[in-house]
Amino acid sequence: MTRSNRSVVEKVVEILVGEQGMAIADAAVKSLKERKITPSPENYAVWLAYHTGVQADLRAELEMMIAAKRVIDDHVCDTLYIKYFEDLAIGSRMMKAGGKIAAEMEDVRQGLLNAGIKTKAYGEQLEVAKRELAKTDSPLITRDLVDSLVGATSEMAAQSKNLETKLAESSVEIEALRVQLEQVRIEAATDSLTGLANRKEFDSRLVEMCSASDRGAGPVTVIMADIDFFKRINDTFGHQTGDQVIRFVATVMDRAKPKGGVVARLGGEEFAMIAPMTDRKTAMAIAERIRQTVEGKRLVRRASNEDLGKITISLGVSQRRQAEKPNDMVERADAALYASKRNGRNRVSQEELVKAKAA
Ligand code: GH3
Ligand code: MG
Ligand code: MG
Repeated sequence: MTRSNRSVVEKVVEILVGEQGMAIADAAVKSLKERKITPSPENYAVWLAYHTGVQADLRAELEMMIAAKRVIDDHVCDTLYIKYFEDLAIGSRMMKAGGKIAAEMEDVRQGLLNAGIKTKAYGEQLEVAKRELAKTDSPLITRDLVDSLVGATSEMAAQSKNLETKLAESSVEIEALRVQLEQVRIEAATDSLTGLANRKEFDSRLVEMCSASDRGAGPVTVIMADIDFFKRINDTFGHQTGDQVIRFVATVMDRAKPKGGVVARLGGEEFAMIAPMTDRKTAMAIAERIRQTVEGKRLVRRASNEDLGKITISLGVSQRRQAEKPNDMVERADAALYASKRNGRNRVSQEELVKAKAA
């Protein structure tokens, strides 16, 4: 600020605190309003100088414009301010520009913070720059600061763009891998002919459900099933029709399973169901319903529309005994199944009868 400007400001202040102060301040505001000039401190200063008359040249220039009916707008005021309060203007403009840049930097920084990117060094650089911009009047220092800020910003922008791209790329890759892994996991557990669980999956689910039962989840039962005289179906109608029959029995069993149950194809035309939270009596009823459903359906050979005749299955049921090995329970169900075969097929047997016969 130069000496002459300081004295102008001092004079204005002196008048404003004096008797005429309020009237002059009002007149300055009125002048701004009349001309729809932005009521910024700078424009206000121009009109205060005019109404107080402390800046004779400024007043003369404005009077000339008013007499000539020239439009006095923001731009004219800006020019007058720069012309008559030049030193002040530079300082003020720097402050304004500095504030704008600092605000913009803050936006950028906030954006990065919101995106979870916290770069301490960058934040610190911004803080320093903001402090310097706030206190400097020097256009040189300001330009240096602006340059360094612009540099830092574009560097950050490039970095965060990179990071964003990388994140997007890896999340797509991770998602694809996750889907692939899930697919492999499902395939490894599935019997491809029927879509049921395979023997491996059956074994591991059985161990799981047995330990759940040990922890108090209720009784576990196993239902084993084998198609009767399946060789004959294969021999008469061919392997493909045999497969069709296998898929049919698989569907009937799968639909009959209780909540949380697992149905597996153990190989050939043999099936097994694990029924958790199911006692032997309930399992016997489930097995009987399966037997009846299979017996009741008349199958037709797809290729030729030939009647396949009655398809029947034999079943065996066992409920897990206290602390019994899962395999032993399966063996007892298998023994019950073969009792069904021995006793004429197309029936359901339970472990006790096997034991009673064996005894
Ligand atoms: P049983 O009433 O005593 O069970 O008589 P069965 O004819 O069903 O006798 P068994 O269980 O020994 O016969 C199984 C036949 O199943 C033997 C094999 O040719 C056939 N087989 C095994 N796996 C498949 C398969 O994936 N598809 C088809 N179509 N046949 C199969
Ligand atoms: Mg069979
Ligand atoms: Mg068999």
